[in-house]
Amino acid sequence: MANIGIIRCEKNEERCPLTSCLKSMKETTEGFSSYQNAELVGVFTCRCPGNSLVNMAKILKSKGADTLHFCTCTFAHREDGKWVAGGGYCDHVDALLQRLSKEADIPCAKGTAHLPEGYKVEVFKEK
Ligand code: SF4
Repeated sequence: MANIGIIRCEKNEERCPLTSCLKSMKETTEGFSSYQNAELVGVFTCRCPGNSLVNMAKILKSKGADTLHFCTCTFAHREDGKWVAGGGYCDHVDALLQRLSKEADIPCAKGTAHLPEGYKVEVFKEK
């Protein structure tokens, strides 16, 4: 059983209620396809420029999360009904994931629902 924490971006907070992310997690598809079962531990909204993320990650970890997932919309955008890598809400998402996985000592996965075609989920595990 994977215990998941989800981090979403404030720029999409008032438009997207995470429906696809939660569905993909429940069905272990898309960004969650490497798990047999997955349970949601909690969700936080990142606020620019991401300075409170480490603290959020530590809280999710203290609640039992063993992996954090950053929403697909942070690094991909929709074009003609398809999700395409690049042009997401966050221009420094990789740096955030690297820092987070190191400072909170928890694996951080880049991707949740509707992954871009051919994209393989990157998991940051900086030591
Ligand atoms: S730092 Fe990135 S993910 Fe966080 S709110 Fe800003 S743009 Fe969104």
